[in-house]
Amino acid sequence: ADPLLDVRDLHVEFRTRDGVAKAVNGVNYTVHAGETLAVLGESGSGKSVTAQAIMGILDTPPGFVTRGQVLFQGRDLLTMSAEERRKVRGARIAMIFQDALSALNPVLTVGEQLGEMFRVHRGASRKEARAKAIELMDRVRIPAARDRVRDYPHQFSGGMRQRVMIAMAMALEPDLIIADEPTTALDVTVQAQVMDLLAELQREFTMGLILITHDLGVVADVADKIAVMYAGRIVETAPVHDIYRAPAHPYTRGLLRSIPRLDRKGRELYAIKGLPPSLLHIPPGCPFHPRCAQARGRELCRSDLPALLPVVGGRASACHFWKETLGDDNAAADRAG
Ligand code: SF4
Ligand code: MG
Repeated sequence: ADPLLDVRDLHVEFRTRDGVAKAVNGVNYTVHAGETLAVLGESGSGKSVTAQAIMGILDTPPGFVTRGQVLFQGRDLLTMSAEERRKVRGARIAMIFQDALSALNPVLTVGEQLGEMFRVHRGASRKEARAKAIELMDRVRIPAARDRVRDYPHQFSGGMRQRVMIAMAMALEPDLIIADEPTTALDVTVQAQVMDLLAELQREFTMGLILITHDLGVVADVADKIAVMYAGRIVETAPVHDIYRAPAHPYTRGLLRSIPRLDRKGRELYAIKGLPPSLLHIPPGCPFHPRCAQARGRELCRSDLPALLPVVGGRASACHFWKETLGDDNAAADRAG
């Protein structure tokens, strides 16, 4: 089947006082109905900006899509009329943000905000809208929905507020949900519950889901495939389990090693040394080379930008020496196991 969403060669720039920040530099990814894509990377990797370009909400300093296509059900969101685009983005694609408190309106009750979706988009009466709001709150398992429908966002706990956000996103039964760090602000147990709920709804409604996160630890059980971003590019894509078993890019390997693991208790947590590059001055060659241990003594890493190319088994890597990375980890797994 054709993908639900097909992002092609997307480029986004921000014009800042200090120059042009190249936030997204040729991103390609697809999401099919019923599929979950996890987009992973540190902050500034371009994972949120890509989502904002899809949703048409690039914020200040002004961001511009300078090249590419965002095909949704086969039609380019970037070139369709403003009217059509509003319809698609309002009803067919929904977004969930990290900070529900600032995404929700503080002076309206949760019931009013949920109800408004049905009043505006479905022409529901006040009474119908309220009934729908309660139904939705039940669906996302907010206890005592009938009473809580009258509460304001600040009266909910962080986890419950995130459920309200999910209910808002689900209200019109969209085809695609984009969740940007949906559980980052929550504590670990609540994170898992919210992630499970999202995965359950996604399966039930056969939606496409894009899960944006900096934390490889939270997506293992819910994602089908992963795209790892660095400096505005995808550096590795893989079916989810392969990436945990044996990454094919040194950056992915670094992210994996920095996940806290119970079986490594007591051992020092690994951190990738250095910082992501400024998007105003992306290093030549492989953008990861200043932080990459494998780059040592290798001119190619400093001179040639590696393209994202198929490697093995439905996977792609943007590393000149992916074989080595993959080999290291296979060898390590053999030794361990
Ligand atoms: Fe490291 Fe070179 Fe691979 Fe880039 S191309 S990730 S610098 S080994
Ligand atoms: Mg972000």
